[in-house]
Amino acid sequence: MADLKLTNIKKVYNNNVEVLRDINLDIKQGEFIVFVGPSGCGKSTLLRIISGLEGISGGTLEIDGQLVNDIPPAMRGIAMVFQSYALYPHMSVYDNMAFSLQIAKVSRKDIDTQVRKAADMLQLTDYLDRLPKALSGGQRQRVAIGRAIVRKPKVFLFDEPLSNLDAALRVATRMEIANLKESMPESTMIYVTHDQIEAMTLADKIVLLSAGNIEQVGPPLELYENPRNVFVAKFIGSPAMNILPAKLTQTGEQSRLEFPSQDDVIVPIKTPDRDINTAVSFGVRPEDLSVATCEDYLVEGDIAFIESLGEATLLYVNVEGCPDMVICKLSGTSHFKRGSRVKLSTVPEKMHLFDTAGLTYRNTL
Ligand code: ADP
Repeated sequence: MADLKLTNIKKVYNNNVEVLRDINLDIKQGEFIVFVGPSGCGKSTLLRIISGLEGISGGTLEIDGQLVNDIPPAMRGIAMVFQSYALYPHMSVYDNMAFSLQIAKVSRKDIDTQVRKAADMLQLTDYLDRLPKALSGGQRQRVAIGRAIVRKPKVFLFDEPLSNLDAALRVATRMEIANLKESMPESTMIYVTHDQIEAMTLADKIVLLSAGNIEQVGPPLELYENPRNVFVAKFIGSPAMNILPAKLTQTGEQSRLEFPSQDDVIVPIKTPDRDINTAVSFGVRPEDLSVATCEDYLVEGDIAFIESLGEATLLYVNVEGCPDMVICKLSGTSHFKRGSRVKLSTVPEKMHLFDTAGLTYRNTL
């Protein structure tokens, strides 16, 4: 149960590569924070720095206002749950959960109360006498979580805890972690994953990292609806947002968007707050595109592939002047044929515009 403050955190490993550049982050007590980003972006390093398992090369880390840069892991009031579970194979579920309390010389009675409470919360009561090898992957991960709970830490750290589970178990365990958060609203939890669905479903706030930098911090839907830049726009959401080259022009009072090789198509937009008559990237999510039946459309092209997923159909459309295929996600099944020509449209509220540096234009669209 704690606030965390990270100020100008840097990490350089022995090979002199800067893995974390200048991380500034405020985490409030009770928040569920998810660090997400592509492999190698520095998520685990940042988590390990918070835990104390990894040293800090620059900057400060405070927990509840106390500088902890040089405080060893065991003294930080933090419990970590690893993807590998790290259970003691020769100990029962009960003993695995009780172990850290026994080391801390907690009374037998108090240990029993806490272990049984955690087991109840995680539906492990019927398994307390079993050895880890007699449990499923999901149950083992719950024991690892139980072991963290009994220590009543100020902060829970989860390092990709679901990545060793199969798809169905992952969903079930994800729900359990969400329930755990509900039942411990005072606890601060920090969770690392490369899976954006886990990030979207679990986080109060997502911290999206790339190459050692924070790209954006905010509630999941804020990142989805108002990404700060092209990287965030493409990372959050699946299939990824379509990015099309376009030109922003102005005639009289009105600024417009023109797509190459689609010269009859002009989309009126509000005047942006920066230069116009310039190259931009236009972004639209696959789920925000539809097949136009009238002349009021954005771009047109030929369907190169169709993926029928049952609940949705993905049309991959070759649009002239656009280097990548444009994906249009329609709900349900559809009658479209490969090779046929389609016109795609969207509504102004679903349009995103990025400058040449990849940053989102503000106050536009
Ligand atoms: P992520 O968790 O986002 O996949 P990591 O934090 O594990 O990323 O790694 C970030 C970068 O730091 C990677 O380029 C990785 O190779 C490097 N790295 C991680 N641990 C070490 C280490 N102990 N020594 C040197 N480089 C490391």
